[in-house]
Amino acid sequence: MPQDIDKAAERLVKANYVIALTGAGISVESGIRPFRGPGGLWTEYGEPPMDGYQRFLADPKGHWEQRIKRVGYAKELYETIEKAKPNPAHHALAELERIGVLKYLITQNVDNLHLAAGSEKVAQIHGNMLKMRCIKCGSRYEQEEISLETLPPTCPKCGGIIKGDGVMFGEPIPLDVLEVCEREMDRSEGMICVGTSAFVYPAAGFPREIKRRGGFLIEVDPRETELTPLCDISLRGKAAEIVPQLVSKLRDILKSK
Ligand SMILES: [Zn+2]
Repeated sequence: MPQDIDKAAERLVKANYVIALTGAGISVESGIRPFRGPGGLWTEYGEPPMDGYQRFLADPKGHWEQRIKRVGYAKELYETIEKAKPNPAHHALAELERIGVLKYLITQNVDNLHLAAGSEKVAQIHGNMLKMRCIKCGSRYEQEEISLETLPPTCPKCGGIIKGDGVMFGEPIPLDVLEVCEREMDRSEGMICVGTSAFVYPAAGFPREIKRRGGFLIEVDPRETELTPLCDISLRGKAAEIVPQLVSKLRDILKSK
């Protein structure tokens, strides 16, 4: 395993353009439960309806009234996300960006923790639960920028209906984010996948596409995943332990050059 970390660090130093993909596994140690699988929020409360976005469009006012009441899993989710802090894995990835090795980070998480850790180049494909978005012009807002006095709230710029930025079932991934992902995929020579079983599309397609184009894949996950057979290097363990070790090794290599 230490040899694998060395190997992964060497591989990352040699590459000109590396991006990362992160999923629920990276935030578990910040106290955020995954949605799926054992101990998952939806495993306990049941999956939300698959046509959530269509229901929102049919009755945005009703959706907002429910949202303000925080019914079911939403209550726990908002409460944990609001108080969660980035863990050493989030901080290590932010450092990897600062030292110029990591060029972009795509996350499936809606918890804001990469931004809180200081990562700047972040594509949040499923949105950010702490932000709001206009469904008409796509502008994003901080929660405090939007008044909830009249429901549904409307966009200060265009008057369109405001929803949470988190992408619902049945809702298309915002185009601006998808475009960033495609641009970054084109530029990338390799990808570090942290805490994602790459089960949900479109994210599931990204590592497979990197591989198809001849790029390399490094995985950090305590368990074998569906991606493991595709990976050049698999680092087994908790993200909060492995990613900082990897970044520290990388720093040593860069220093010695
Ligand atoms: Zn708008």
